[in-house]
Formats: sequence, C-alpha cells, structure tokens
Amino acid sequence: MSSYSADDPVSNKPAASQAYDVVIIGSGPAGYTAGIYTSRAKLRTRIVSGTLPGGQLMTTSEVENYPGFPNGIFGPELMMNMRQQAERFGTCIVDDEVIRVDFNKRPFEITSHSETCEAHSVIICTGASPRKLGIPSEEQFAGRGVSYCATCDGPFFKGEDIVVVGGGDTALEEATFLTKFGKSVRLVHRRASLRASKILQQKAFENPKIEFLWNRVISTIEGDRKVGAVTVKDVENGLEQRLPAGGIFVAIGHEPNTAIYKGQIDLDNKGYIILKNHTATNIEGVFAAGDVHDFRYRQAITAGGFGCMAALDVEKWLTERKHRR
Ligand code: NAP
Repeated sequence: MSSYSADDPVSNKPAASQAYDVVIIGSGPAGYTAGIYTSRAKLRTRIVSGTLPGGQLMTTSEVENYPGFPNGIFGPELMMNMRQQAERFGTCIVDDEVIRVDFNKRPFEITSHSETCEAHSVIICTGASPRKLGIPSEEQFAGRGVSYCATCDGPFFKGEDIVVVGGGDTALEEATFLTKFGKSVRLVHRRASLRASKILQQKAFENPKIEFLWNRVISTIEGDRKVGAVTVKDVENGLEQRLPAGGIFVAIGHEPNTAIYKGQIDLDNKGYIILKNHTATNIEGVFAAGDVHDFRYRQAITAGGFGCMAALDVEKWLTERKHRR
C-alpha cells in the first residue's frame, strides 16, 4: 500500500491511499515495457489492457525483427512474455477497456467498464489501429495473406504476387520495400494521383517492378487457406479485373486510439497525441508512448523504447513531487 505525503504538491490535499503511482492505459509493447520499468522501480503500477490485450501484435504471426529472438517469435508469444515480465515485478494487469478519463482531478481518475481507479500519473499507450478496407473478405484473410505492415510481414511473401493498397507515403514506401521479395508488386489506388511525397513517388515510378493500377479499389479477396487472388474494380466505369495475389498489404493510414482523450489532451489534426520533452503531454503527470503519438516508425521495438522513456520520465516526475513510496 502506498503512503503519500499529506502536503502533496500536486493534488494540494492528502493523497488517497488507494491511488496508483501510475496507471498505464494500453498493453502493446509500449504499455508492457512501461509497466516493466515502473514496477521494477517500485512504483505501484496498474495496466488497463484494452479490448485487445497485447495490442496489434496479437493478430500477427511470426515476428522476425524483434531483437533477441534469432529464430523469430510469434507475436502473441512475444506479448505474453512481455506481460509476464511486467507481472513478475508486481504490475497489476486488468483486462478491461478504459471508457473515460478525468485529468482535471488530482489524483487522476480512470474509468473502465468494471471500475474507476485513481492515479498520480498516467502513461497513455493506446496505440493506433490500421484503417481497414471494410470489405467482408478482408477480416477472413487477416494474417493469412492480408497484412497491415510490410516491414513486419514482407519477408514472408518471397516470390509472391503482391498487391499494395493506398496512395500515401506508407503505401509507396511499402511497395518499394516489397519489390525485394515479391515476384510482382501492384499498387492499387482509388484516385489517379498520389498523396505521397514527390521523392517517394519518383522512387516508386522509377522502380520497374511496381505496376500502378489507378482509380481502382479492391472489391473481393479470394483464396483457400490463404489469399490467392483479388478482384479490383475501376471506380470510373465499374469494370472488374481478377488478379493473382499471394499477399495484400493495406496501407491506407492509421487511426490513433485517442477518442476518449479529446478535449483534455492536445491532439494534432489527425488525432495523434502531441508531446513535448519526448513523452510529456500538455497535462502535467500524463505521459504517452508508442503509436498513439508516433505515426512515423510504428514498430514494436520503437513502441517499447518509447514505453521505457515514458516510464523513466514518470519515475523522475513522481520523485520530484515526493510521490514515491
Ligand atoms: P495517409 O497519408 O493518410 O494516406 C492514406 C492513403 O490511403 C491515401 O492515398 C488515401 O487515398 C488512401 N485511402 C484512405 N482510405 C482509403 C480507403 N478506404 N480505400 C482506399 N484507399 C484509401 O497515410 P500514410 O501513408 O500511412 O501516412 C500517414 C502519415 O505518416 C503521413 O503524414 C505521412 O506523410 C507520414 N509518413 C511519412 C513517411 C516518410 O516520411 N518516410 C513514411 C510513412 C508515413 P486519398 O489520397 O485518395 O485520400
């Protein structure tokens, strides 16, 4: 049980004994890494895991680029290991979804479906979700040919016909990257011009392995146990064309999971959390880590790194305010 200073300079009132030193919202690599660090630093730590405990890696297959696993590791196994590592140092993990936060109160109030808990500090690690095409067959083949991350899954598609969907920087970077593995790479874009930066466009146009299918959308994905073909539809004349495809990379953007923080935490125009001094939000004592603020790197290892940074910043912030046990 924590014992906090009665002249708590943060809340300006006797601190509630039940308040956690830190509540971490979200349980991807950022959340679990933050939990490992804060609980190991003897901070009373609670992780509220969210609807998909373990985050995006729970829906991927093998992870080959996470250091320390020379033969690769399955995403769910990696996340279970991280969870157990956080629990080993005393992190309390609750599999629930946070539905409301009150950062105007001190201690902060975090409400999930089953409870409201109090926290002297918070690390937001709720990540981002890849935008989906929204066609029925997409979900059926997720992890069986349909991927949302070329860096993660590209090497599994050696010698395959690959389709990339999207016209932004990510789609072009991924299409270029995937030419290292695929027999062919077709980029399907819903318009006749790209949103991506000119330099990435030029690189992709100069790559003889990339074929551009303009004004097209994917209407159906087919296959047996894994993806075997796609049907693309011309948005102008409605004509459909069936193409062989062993892999489909959907690169149409991400949506940061920040809806519940709107009005309290500063967000950019796409909804990503704006940070200052590496991990601090506009609210003192509220920090953020991982894809919820980082739209550029979006890797398990970078999210974990940000989680570590946020945990160290929380520890320092609490120490400075005599909040330590
Ligand atoms: P984005 O810039 O939002 O582009 C998304 C693309 O997907 C757009 O071309 C969009 O088409 C298309 N799209 C959206 N919804 C669609 C749907 N339902 N069906 C079909 N197509 C759809 O996303 P992003 O490429 O992931 O980039 C996100 C941010 O990260 C950007 O700010 C980007 O500059 C940055 N980024 C930078 C780098 C780099 O600097 N190297 C690399 C990656 C990402 P429309 O164009 O028709 O809207």
